[in-house]
Amino acid sequence: MSNTIQVSGVSAFKDNYIWVIHDKRHAVVVDPGDAAPVLRFLQEQHLTLAAVLITHHHADHVGGLPGILAVSPVTVYGPRSEAIDGVTHLLAETDRITLPQLGISFRVLDIPGHTAGHIGYVGEGWLFCGDTLFACGCGRLFEGTPAQMSDSLDKLASLPENTAVYCAHEYTLSNIAFALTVEPDNARLQQRALKAAEDRRQSRPTVPSTLALERDTNPFLRCRIPAIAQAVESHTGTHPVDTTAVFAALRQWKNTF
Ligand code: ZN
Ligand code: FE
Repeated sequence: MSNTIQVSGVSAFKDNYIWVIHDKRHAVVVDPGDAAPVLRFLQEQHLTLAAVLITHHHADHVGGLPGILAVSPVTVYGPRSEAIDGVTHLLAETDRITLPQLGISFRVLDIPGHTAGHIGYVGEGWLFCGDTLFACGCGRLFEGTPAQMSDSLDKLASLPENTAVYCAHEYTLSNIAFALTVEPDNARLQQRALKAAEDRRQSRPTVPSTLALERDTNPFLRCRIPAIAQAVESHTGTHPVDTTAVFAALRQWKNTF
């Protein structure tokens, strides 16, 4: 990997991040929900678009495709089991893609739960996980079951701990508020809350995080920890029979938090 390569976040809508991987000449864009801010960034930075990566079919992740492709008709990678206009290369787990303009490659993970065909891209120490894993949270279950989402999060949690987690939304402060309700005595989570609050006060993104930090502070990756199961049991008044039941109750709790 070239050491001049970087990942920049382009803000879109209220709280989306459109990630742009670039080396000062070529760019790969992840989940362009809106065309205008992406085209502006590419122009300002004098970047030539090489490809687009899509994680799932929601409009805030694909809505910019027509506008971008009208300007730069590039290869668009996306999930095999979701119908998305503009996607040219369908991907599923075990697939690998190479982006020669940037000299980087990714492997593809199936991470269903938020949507049925959601995929993630892992490579070069980065994870682009769309709306599956968030900083200190996880996506809502629109099309999948708790068991699917729980398996998907386990898959992501097993990646190397220094993996940089590039999720698609700035939801961190509200996720941390929920996490602290679930696990108030987690010292690393308390530290994270202070750091994230300061970052947001300075208008800095809290993303990317790392998998190490997520494993230590994200309640949705901590369903096996007794304190989390205990908090869920106190909240629901029901003993969760297994870690999937802990996850399901935790996700339900967050939905109404
Ligand atoms: Zn989504
Ligand atoms: Fe989204």
